[in-house]
Amino acid sequence: MPQPSLASTANRTRRDHAAPVVCLDADNTLWDTDGVFAAAQLRLLANVITATGIDMAGEDRLAYVREIDQELASRHHLGLRYPARLLIAALCHRLLGDDPGLAARKTWNDPSTIPLAKEVAEEIEKQYLSDLGVTPRLLPGVHTGLERLHHANAVLVLVTEGGRDRVGKLLQANKITRYIDRVIDAPKRKELFVRLRRLFGSNGPVYMIGDQITRDIKPAAEAGLRTIHIQGKFRPIWETGAAAPTTQEANTFEDAANAILARA
Ligand SMILES: [Mg+2]
Repeated sequence: MPQPSLASTANRTRRDHAAPVVCLDADNTLWDTDGVFAAAQLRLLANVITATGIDMAGEDRLAYVREIDQELASRHHLGLRYPARLLIAALCHRLLGDDPGLAARKTWNDPSTIPLAKEVAEEIEKQYLSDLGVTPRLLPGVHTGLERLHHANAVLVLVTEGGRDRVGKLLQANKITRYIDRVIDAPKRKELFVRLRRLFGSNGPVYMIGDQITRDIKPAAEAGLRTIHIQGKFRPIWETGAAAPTTQEANTFEDAANAILARA
C-alpha cells in the first residue's frame, strides 16, 4: 500500500478539528494471533509426544506448552520470537519429568541435548513455522469498529513491533488496508508515543487501543495519550500483575471505537 508521508497525514489531522487520532495495536487487538499460536503449539506438542513416545502432558495441553514457552521467552533476548527448536528441546525435558523452570534452564544451557534425531526435530520445527504462517482472523467487532472510525474521519495509525511487511500482508489478507492511514513499526516505548502525540495531537486527543498493559497502555498513558484496553485471551508472564494506569476498558474493538466516537 502506498503510504502518505508522516507530514501529510499529520496535516490532514490539523485540517480536521473533529477527527480523532487513534493509534492501534495489531496482534490480539485487530486479529487473533493468539489463536494461530495456540493451534501451532498444540500440533508441536502432539508431534513431540509422537516422536519421543512419552505423553506426560495431561489435560490442559495448551497450558502445558505455554508454561514452557513463557519460561523460554522471559529468558531470551528475542522474547516470544526465540527460535522454535528451543521449545522442542524444552518440551522433551519437560515430558521426561523436569519442571518447567528446569526444562527451560537445561535447554538454555545446551539446546542440543534432546532425545530426538536431528531430522525429526527439524521436521517438527518446519511444521510449526508453517502453522505460524496461517493468517489470523479478525477479532469480533474489528471490521465494524474500523469502518465507523474511518467514516468519522479518524486518522488510524497502526503501531506494531511485528514487522511492517508482515503487518501489511495481514491487513491485506483481512481486507482492512483501506482503513489504516499509517503503519509505524517501532518499539512501543514512551518516547514513540510522545513523538506520535507531537505529530498528530495538535488539535485534540490521541488515543491508543491495545491488549497489553505493559506494551500498549502504560507507555502510551505515560506519554499523555488516552488509552483503551481490550483484554485478550493471551496474557504473557510479564503482564501478570502489571499495574494498570488509568485506562478505559472495552470488551470488543467495536466498543472501543464507539467510546472514542461518543467523546469526539
Ligand atoms: Mg497485542
